[in-house]
Amino acid sequence: MSEPNNDFRDCAATATKDGKRLWVFARQSKGFYTHARRWLSFFQISFLIVAPFVKINGEPMLMFNIFERRVSFLGCCFWPQDLHLFALAMITGLVAIALLTMVWGRVFCGWACPQTIFLEMMFRRIEWFLEGDGPEQRKQAKLPMRGQRLLRRMTKLVLFFTLSFLLSNVFLGYVVGGDKLLALMVHSPAHDWPLFWTVFAFSGVFFCHFTFFREQLCAFLCPYARLQSVFIDKATVGVAYDEVRGEPRLRGAARKAAEADPAKPKGDCVDCGLCVQVCPAGIDIRNGFPQLECVNCTACMDACDGVMKSIGKPLALIGYKSREMIEERRGFHITPRVIFYSVAVVILGCVTLLLAITRCDTESTLLRMRGSTCIFRGDEALNVYEMRVLTKRGRDLMLTPAIKGLGRVECAPFPVKARQEAKSTLLIALPKAACSHDRGERINLKVTLTDADGRIVETVSTRFLGPEK
Ligand code: SF4
Ligand code: SF4
Repeated sequence: MSEPNNDFRDCAATATKDGKRLWVFARQSKGFYTHARRWLSFFQISFLIVAPFVKINGEPMLMFNIFERRVSFLGCCFWPQDLHLFALAMITGLVAIALLTMVWGRVFCGWACPQTIFLEMMFRRIEWFLEGDGPEQRKQAKLPMRGQRLLRRMTKLVLFFTLSFLLSNVFLGYVVGGDKLLALMVHSPAHDWPLFWTVFAFSGVFFCHFTFFREQLCAFLCPYARLQSVFIDKATVGVAYDEVRGEPRLRGAARKAAEADPAKPKGDCVDCGLCVQVCPAGIDIRNGFPQLECVNCTACMDACDGVMKSIGKPLALIGYKSREMIEERRGFHITPRVIFYSVAVVILGCVTLLLAITRCDTESTLLRMRGSTCIFRGDEALNVYEMRVLTKRGRDLMLTPAIKGLGRVECAPFPVKARQEAKSTLLIALPKAACSHDRGERINLKVTLTDADGRIVETVSTRFLGPEK
């Protein structure tokens, strides 16, 4: 086999050599994968829109409230105190994405990334509807911007901005929660100008991105695209052109001549260029695998399958394949690297889950009142403390503090509202005899917090300051 020509790796597919943008006029694709992606994206978009409004245990299903420093995931609330869980979940997610990339390349980009879903399934569809298919748009682009063309362009821009504004509101729903978003929607913008302008600014960013920047994000800004070459190897399966079967590509008279002569080599590729025309990244998949710009959207697979069907050749000249499948004609297999990462994901996932399930209902601190000193009363030494209790779950608690071991606590049961912080002052008394006669001695203590059902919800550690003599 001849050495592949890697010249295409030296320049971006969507820019000329002097850096000018080459606009992509993607043609619509039809076929099994496009159909499957359309259905999947319907559910994904519905989920993304509905998720901030769905509640589990009284909490939004998904919320990342940076203002209140609170994350809600599947009805469980996480606070800054749960940072270790968040960090572990992030690490698990990153290792899982690395594993997915090793096995299936950029399958996430094509099938699940919101950027691809919104661009290909919403914005580009509006564009196709108003301005026609890719070749028609290319033709129109050479005409002056007036009359019907201007009207269609203006309609497109208005629809794009409206959609961007809606997306920006959905995005806000993930930050402030569905309830607050609904409340903001029914009030005038004057109710909260800063928030209104934030949503407006995000709408502008989304509008500019989906109208102008588009596939450039995947190629130049997305860190995942940049990292993929680290994870992809010869066994990684992705959208790839089978050059062993497809080359030499021949078309027109050359193909006819080759078909008339059985001794002449001819591949299955008829060089129709459809795979390039449908590509939203503007690349030629036949240049090789992997390519930085390819988001694995499968449009070229459907386009080529249509051509193969029409000329009576087997499907999947472009398909989900690895370099090994193409060059060595071997089947899919699992590499030791994949096994190692799988084990890591399972271990990290189990640890994260275990820590999340066993985490305490409350997060409390018990500190001696600032500026207070130990005093004596009868046979006891006393210190005053301030207790702060944060409840992480969706139920109100009535907590009674008690000391574990020698001593007692003077404090009435105090209420803590669900997902709020409460403060209480308490007095801890130890028998005088328990304090040695060292000046300013510190004694380690454990205080339990018991709920109304008599269940110990948390045990808090603190230090008892001995008398100053
Ligand atoms: S090369 Fe194929 S899979 Fe990759 S972005 Fe283009 S059309 Fe999508
Ligand atoms: S669509 Fe298939 S046959 Fe046509 S140029 Fe692409 S790879 Fe070749």
